[in-house]
Amino acid sequence: MTSAGRFAPSPSGQLHVGNLRTAILAWLFAKSSGRDFLLRVEDLDRTRSGAEAEQLRDLEAVGVRWDAGVVRQTERAAFYDEAIARLTAEGRTYECFCTRREIQEAASAPHAPQGAYPGTCRRLSHAEREIRRASRPASIRLQADVVEWAVEDQLCGIYRGMVDDFVLRRNDGVTAYNLAVVVDDAAQGIDQVVRGDDLLPSTPRQAYLATLLGLPVPEYAHVPLVVNHDGARLAKRDGAVTLGDLAAVGIPAGRVRDLILESVGLPAGTLEEALPHFRPRSLPKEPWVWKTPRP
Ligand code: GLU
Repeated sequence: MTSAGRFAPSPSGQLHVGNLRTAILAWLFAKSSGRDFLLRVEDLDRTRSGAEAEQLRDLEAVGVRWDAGVVRQTERAAFYDEAIARLTAEGRTYECFCTRREIQEAASAPHAPQGAYPGTCRRLSHAEREIRRASRPASIRLQADVVEWAVEDQLCGIYRGMVDDFVLRRNDGVTAYNLAVVVDDAAQGIDQVVRGDDLLPSTPRQAYLATLLGLPVPEYAHVPLVVNHDGARLAKRDGAVTLGDLAAVGIPAGRVRDLILESVGLPAGTLEEALPHFRPRSLPKEPWVWKTPRP
């Protein structure tokens, strides 16, 4: 099995400079450590028709290349089913009938850990479960036997975070991101996960789940996001932030790539030229504040 890093976009729209910067960093981390670089399209939900093709084209336009065929999560249902079946056979899952509102109410009770599912349906009796099955499709949750888990992150150090009875399969039948990501990273031989630091809080859940499934826990590096001038995470409404919009105001993809490289202290040029200068430890720790450059 190869040793690989990856970029795993959700094809919900066009990539913006923040996404492209994370992809370039993931490529640099992988290549500088002798790994392959893989691309996985996380298309289980939030998809927009045509977005995948645009994303792949934009990644290529900034010089990101991948070493094997693109993997799509919608083609991998059998692997997710198998993982859930295994956990269920071990008594590690349960059906949950809570509505979003019920969860919010229970989670805002005093002493409830922030954002944690309070375990309401864990305690249902067989009879109660039968009744609720008749009124609502169930989601499947992990029955976690820890409340927190620690991971080691190359950039953020030891991160200890909450693990609750998180959803493995939603009640509309869609596999949850936290399960799919763990199953896929292991199946693709991905032993290095580089992504935006907005996902750091999900990482303890994923590392714990990998451990339960007997899968290796990858090495992690959560990179600072790109933000707008108000310090909020960059979004489409922040003006020209996609390659398409930037090209329309006279800024070609090569220039965007150069700006991204300079933002992480690397010389402008191709990614291959930047590679020998890449030092993970000297990456900026702060978010990059995006300002639309002049053409
Ligand atoms: N598909 C997720 C996203 O686009 C990223 C998941 C990951 O890198 O683990 O936000």
